[in-house]
Amino acid sequence: MTYTHEHLTVAGHWIDGAEVPGEGGTADIISPVDGSLVASVPSGTGQDVARAVSAARTALPGWAATEPSERAAALRRLSEELTSRIEDVAQAVTAEIGVPISFSRMGQAGFPALVTAATADLEPEIAWTENVGNAVLVREPVGVVGAITPWNFPLQQVMTKIAPALLAGNTLVLKPAEGAPLTMRFLAEAAAAAAIPGGVLNIVYGSGPTVGEALVAHPGVDMISFTGSTRAGKRISKVAADTVKRVGLELGGKSANIILDGADLDVAVQQTLMNAWANAGQACGAWTRLLVPATTQATIVKKLREAAAAYVIGDPRDELTRMGPLASEQQWQRVNGYIERGIADGATLVCGGPGRVPGFESGAYIRPTIFADVDPNSAIAQEEIFGPVLSVIPYTDEDEAVSIANGTIYGLTAAVFGDPEPAFRVARRLEAGQVYLNGADFNPLAPFGGYKQSGNGREMGRAGVEEFTEVKSILL
Ligand code: NAD
Repeated sequence: MTYTHEHLTVAGHWIDGAEVPGEGGTADIISPVDGSLVASVPSGTGQDVARAVSAARTALPGWAATEPSERAAALRRLSEELTSRIEDVAQAVTAEIGVPISFSRMGQAGFPALVTAATADLEPEIAWTENVGNAVLVREPVGVVGAITPWNFPLQQVMTKIAPALLAGNTLVLKPAEGAPLTMRFLAEAAAAAAIPGGVLNIVYGSGPTVGEALVAHPGVDMISFTGSTRAGKRISKVAADTVKRVGLELGGKSANIILDGADLDVAVQQTLMNAWANAGQACGAWTRLLVPATTQATIVKKLREAAAAYVIGDPRDELTRMGPLASEQQWQRVNGYIERGIADGATLVCGGPGRVPGFESGAYIRPTIFADVDPNSAIAQEEIFGPVLSVIPYTDEDEAVSIANGTIYGLTAAVFGDPEPAFRVARRLEAGQVYLNGADFNPLAPFGGYKQSGNGREMGRAGVEEFTEVKSILL
């Protein structure tokens, strides 16, 4: 089937179990492939937020009173409904932000269903009630949760909030990213098909400053769960302070990937590019700084250059494409600017480079780029680029590697390649919420979140559910 403008366009917000027209106008979603119109979605207002919050508050007592096992069953149904819509979700993400369709199916559409089911399976492991001396501790929902999410993994970022929040008995108002809202229509359909009661999950489309801030400021919202840039996270914390809301922040990253002496270099190089350039490098946890022993930098760079040749640019709708465009023209300007900055600051350009890609001038295509001999204090080594730009930084010993790895304001993920014992030792010294050793597999039950300015909480796993609970002590 061809996914047309009509199939993807969103007619209204999702409030109280129904699609309702908004108070504001509409916003256009523009294709990063050729600048054409993909779809139109409502652009909400504070009044739309108020209606959605009211629906969520009304639904709260009923949903909070259900047994956790009933809520887990609802999540399993939701996971099945999302699974049956994998092609819809994958095509929507490919259309709105240009992710290669072969990656979209699992990376964008499959994982959200998987995470939802994995969250349901956690239900028996949560200490919903616990005896501590003469006290009974009960975990209750926080209340109405406002969820605000970014565009890079539009459904995945949403499900890592919705699934645990619902399991804990909260109701939600969700504001998806304005740049990638098209999967939300399928989420709403899936929620209805899974018999999630009206008002338990509400979706209001619109911009951060208008809809997002209205949600953060609303006195009827008890908690904000935010994933996005560190810049917006700081603003949200300030606005939320007026009503003393709990604020969970999942923010930016500049993750370090350390190759130790003794590592299998072929595995390390393949895994490095697979991670750093997945989703065209538009991933918060992307390993964008590769720290290598100075003595082996030349060998590693040669292997990187060879492996990079496989990342051929193409139309994201083509099944064989591995590297599509960036998500938008705005993203292109940002990433291109950093590539120019890297050259100006004296880093060695290994492959890629700035400018439009010949044959793909009409879209937001950028060459995947590698820099070597990067100064760890330069802009490309310190700031989040959010594109397929890898910085190779040489180090002389383990202490220096750890110091460089920890030497940014961020601390989201990290990776270490090397023999198991030294790799584990180095992992313990890193300021990061998740550390992958030797390209370990993704684990949907392992908590994910940041140290330092990468955030203040954890998503996924038991910790991810507990974030959405209040603990009440009843003393007997
Ligand atoms: P962004 O901060 O610009 O926007 C994220 C969301 O916040 C959007 O829905 C936006 O509308 C909303 N928003 C913006 N300003 C707001 C405000 N003042 N009040 C309320 N809401 C506001 O981020 P983005 O460009 O969409 O996404 C990229 C960023 O997200 C990167 O920094 C990336 O690292 C980060 N990210 C983090 C994680 C994680 O789990 N830590 C995951 C994915 C992306």
